[in-house]
Amino acid sequence: MISAAQMLAWIDAVVAQGIRRPGYPADRWTEAWAAEQFRELGLSDVRLEAVELPYWEPRRAELRVGEECFTGFPLPHAAAGDVEAELALDGEALAGRIALSELDLLRLPQSGFRLLATDAYDPDNDLDTLEQVLPFGARFREVMDPAIAAGAAGFVGLLTGFPWETRDYYVPYDAVPRPIPGIWLSGDDGRRLLQLCASGVRRAHLSVDVDRRPITTHNVVGVLPGASDEWVIIASHHDAPWASAVEDASGIALVLAQAAWWAARPAAERPHNLLFLLTSGHMAEAAGTRAFIAAHAALLERTVLQVHLEHAARRCIVEDRVLIPTDEPEVRWWFTSRAPRLEAAVRDAIAAYDLRRSLVLRPDVFGPMPTTDGAYFHPAGVPLVHFLTAPMYLFDSCDTLDKIHIPSLEPLTRAVAQIIATTRGVSATAMRSDVAS
Ligand SMILES: [Zn+2]
Repeated sequence: MISAAQMLAWIDAVVAQGIRRPGYPADRWTEAWAAEQFRELGLSDVRLEAVELPYWEPRRAELRVGEECFTGFPLPHAAAGDVEAELALDGEALAGRIALSELDLLRLPQSGFRLLATDAYDPDNDLDTLEQVLPFGARFREVMDPAIAAGAAGFVGLLTGFPWETRDYYVPYDAVPRPIPGIWLSGDDGRRLLQLCASGVRRAHLSVDVDRRPITTHNVVGVLPGASDEWVIIASHHDAPWASAVEDASGIALVLAQAAWWAARPAAERPHNLLFLLTSGHMAEAAGTRAFIAAHAALLERTVLQVHLEHAARRCIVEDRVLIPTDEPEVRWWFTSRAPRLEAAVRDAIAAYDLRRSLVLRPDVFGPMPTTDGAYFHPAGVPLVHFLTAPMYLFDSCDTLDKIHIPSLEPLTRAVAQIIATTRGVSATAMRSDVAS
């Protein structure tokens, strides 16, 4: 049977490889390693499927102002280049200047957010008082676009609203090649820079160098045959912004755990054929998910359920501008297609395995798609259950092993296996017709 220790060993093996951005050596290693794990667990038709996407590696991100030099982190996929210009504060004219923009993280009071959920499992009534800090500001991923539209020559984002000290903010992750250079500065550096500006020092030199070019990466796929000729797809992504443990070494472990769980049972006990998928390029606008959807239209029509598993996360608090992991789980989101039988299956499994702080959400609660790596399965019309948490440190290099919520690993695995088991005897056509329009 699957143990938390085994799952943690998988997470550790992946995290130990280092930064796992698409095409980095650690991500290449993870593709090969995951395929090997699939084979060792007894999956058939194990294969790598090509995913084209842009490679991105930062080399330099500096801002020189007067005598001072600040080291930043480049906004992913924004232009390289050198810009000599005046700094412009929020509200000032930006044309031809370097825009300074402070970023505050959104705070989501759960008492209000739960009203948007279709269901909740919260026996301790934690959601009455919890406030979740999200890993986004009010502009989400469109952080530098207003400055570009206003004609700015460069962009400097100041993480002054982050409760902890960091410059490592891997946002945006849509891999859009924005036309001007942009960098993030830490909160302390941002406050120092604002002081300089207030004292009248405005002339600045922004210098960014990155390596950006097209490459081929891979989705990792494996199959367990089951009791019908239709499909359940169980997925997460193998790439990451950093060496990231929660994002998504934990998702890799949750998918491997499902593979091990179902491999240990005879084919007749598996409700449908099971396809296990670890996608590439989550950090490039879910390139792997989009490539899989484009390549497998016929299979998707016969897919009863698509499950995505992301982020077994501890909730963190902040003391003295340092993140401190607590023993509590981050609030769990279960994006679930509005099929009553599916919503009931999710509700029952969450309660059966006591997965507290769970919210069942409609897939379009935040917009046209869920905020998951598997988002594009929703507009493709595939019935889905996507598990995800969104801790504030999701895109930060401090997403390390100590952020994994270990007590969640086994119950999540059992709950998800139970949800999949409830699709026995349900056809893809029946599941689709059950989804409310
Ligand atoms: Zn993820």
